[in-house]
Amino acid sequence: MAESEEGPVACGRCRRDDSFSHPVSVILVFAPGFEKPYPLIPGEDYSVCTACDAIYRLIDCAVDAHPVTRAAAPWTRAVVVFSDGRGADIRAKRRTQHLALA
Ligand SMILES: [Zn+2]
Repeated sequence: MAESEEGPVACGRCRRDDSFSHPVSVILVFAPGFEKPYPLIPGEDYSVCTACDAIYRLIDCAVDAHPVTRAAAPWTRAVVVFSDGRGADIRAKRRTQHLALA
């Protein structure tokens, strides 16, 4: 009974438990096929570890879970807005080596 109902939460990737964000309010997805960003609203509270690249997985999963954004993939940028009003501007890490800088 010592622990709260939430219990200890550790990141599945980096194992840290002190770097979780506030719950995600909305993810604005940018993709080449969109004239404007498409908002994805999580169906439940998602907090994400901000100490590693876990947020990329969160975005990938969210994009893949919605038919509109899945069809427009790959996403190029996403703005994750948290319940405290903060935002994270995420640029997709893609295999773009072939776009060599001339
Ligand atoms: Zn992590």
